[in-house]
Amino acid sequence: MASGGTSGGAGEAQVETWPSRPPHLIVNVTDLRKRLGQRREVAIEATLARQQVLDTHTVRTPVRGEIMVESIERGVSLHGHVSFDWEGDCRRCLEPVRGTTEIEIDEICQVHAPPDADIVDFDGEKIDLLPLIRDAVGLSLPLAPLCREDCPGPDPDRYPALTEDELEEADQAPAPDPRWAALDGLDLN
Ligand SMILES: [Zn+2]
Repeated sequence: MASGGTSGGAGEAQVETWPSRPPHLIVNVTDLRKRLGQRREVAIEATLARQQVLDTHTVRTPVRGEIMVESIERGVSLHGHVSFDWEGDCRRCLEPVRGTTEIEIDEICQVHAPPDADIVDFDGEKIDLLPLIRDAVGLSLPLAPLCREDCPGPDPDRYPALTEDELEEADQAPAPDPRWAALDGLDLN
């Protein structure tokens, strides 16, 4: 447990929220679709609205990356990567952890996409990349992060939960008399 005493505090911490900026990332692919195989790279820099799953949440830094948009039959394909920053609690020692995760974006967008397929339906002209990126980020939040690969966790011998002062106090407190322990074994009835 962190010595800062983050648990059981008076009142819940205020959760900061913020809107996506820009609110959309519209890519017009009308020209691109005039010839199959044409490509255009789109640079991504957008602040997404806050997302949280369990104790891990995104932070207010822009998501950055590049996505290659390519004209394919009945639509476009999107291939690229974006990275985003997050904050959470180490699953072993519960200390706060920050990290950056890079995710692949791989989507097919088609006009009149079959509803059961894993294909994004669009009007053939414009695609909003923001909801696609937002969903990919939400699915990629690390739910059990580690502050470092070899975090030993709250090992009481090597990483005592008590502060040094508290430990000293505990050391000076009279140890329970071992003879009392014998009483536990007695049946006084
Ligand atoms: Zn840790």
